[in-house]
Amino acid sequence: MKAMGTIPAEFAGARLRIAGRSAEEWVAKAGDTPLFVYDLGVVESRIARFRAAFPNVDLHYAIKANPFAPLVAAIEPLVDGLDVASSGELEIAWQTDPAAKVSFAGPGKRDDELEFAIRLNATINLESANEAVRALRIGKQLKNRPRLAVRVNPEIELRGSGMRMGGRASPFGIDADRAAAVARTVIDAGADWRGWHIFAGSQALDAGAIIETQAATLDLAERLTEDVGVMPPLVNLGGGFGIPYFPGEVQVDVESVGAALAGRLTSSPLTSRFAIELGRWLVGEAGVYLTRVVDRKVSRGETFIVTDGGMNHQLAASGNLGTVVRRNYPVAVATADADADAPTETVSVVGPLCTPLDRLADQVALPEAHPGDIIAVFMAGAYGLSASPAGFLGHVKPAEILGAAERS
Ligand SMILES: *Cc1c(COP(=O)(O)O)cnc(C)c1O
Repeated sequence: MKAMGTIPAEFAGARLRIAGRSAEEWVAKAGDTPLFVYDLGVVESRIARFRAAFPNVDLHYAIKANPFAPLVAAIEPLVDGLDVASSGELEIAWQTDPAAKVSFAGPGKRDDELEFAIRLNATINLESANEAVRALRIGKQLKNRPRLAVRVNPEIELRGSGMRMGGRASPFGIDADRAAAVARTVIDAGADWRGWHIFAGSQALDAGAIIETQAATLDLAERLTEDVGVMPPLVNLGGGFGIPYFPGEVQVDVESVGAALAGRLTSSPLTSRFAIELGRWLVGEAGVYLTRVVDRKVSRGETFIVTDGGMNHQLAASGNLGTVVRRNYPVAVATADADADAPTETVSVVGPLCTPLDRLADQVALPEAHPGDIIAVFMAGAYGLSASPAGFLGHVKPAEILGAAERS
């Protein structure tokens, strides 16, 4: 038997309920499995926790974590900005609210994408000196003053982060020693300079590492600002708050991070607004992937629970999205009671794809599951469907549904 991650507290209990309803009720509502349900109450509680911990810092939602339009529309009024990384995401943000405060980051923005962003008055986070020249030229052609921020490739790495983005040669951002010069160019050309964007990494669980990185990010923003001699309206400090997917991992102590940042900000000469951009921390734990058991078989002594969905929808749970060692996401049999003393068996949960990579859970202890039962895979709210190869093997497409508990 192998361990699995911890089921988020909102979904722990004898029998799974998501936003007040059972898995069967959600499947009935959607029409069939497989299905992603996003519990809006969980997202709202994360936003409330952020607001309490960071009372003077703006919160941006990084749409790439989950671009499901109804979810983005529900989040938009609760945050101070939407961060997009493609013209498709820009379109989603724009349809959500044409006046939404949007910033557009990412390397390789095409001319038509820059043009779209400038027409919408979105802030473009410049990823290179060349991109600055192109954005200024397009702004001039459109007779529209572009809003431009400079994304900095910092000499900072977020310790322990799942995905390091700083401290090395990078396609992201402008190297710290050249960032001030690009900001100067943008300002001198008459563009609306929006400030700095500094993102050092992702999926960090250690508050100490995040505190260190935020302090170093502020040092850098202060140094760059001194070089430019113009106060940036906004300093986007990045994000990188992780969520506990695997056995032994625990939640980030965001209250300590907030307290440390507030302390550091009191001694900062910057009079800018500050923002933190978060994706997975806001939505990751809110999502549950529901897939039905189609078959149950024993091969050479190992029991396989075969489901109607798998890595084609929830690639990360199969261990094939940027992990080195495969570990188990938390899973449950949503149609069984998981009391402490209910009998369990050791099984592997596999999807329908013709590849041994398609394994949602490896040798985990679960209540006995049979065809017709529903398996829940947790931590499915971020980098789930949109980060999975849904076209691979041509199986059924999953539904997505926003779950909001009924309020009286
Ligand atoms: C992906 C990304 C994020 C969101 O990362 P999470 O780990 O989901 O919080 C934020 N900012 C930038 C620049 C990104 O590329």
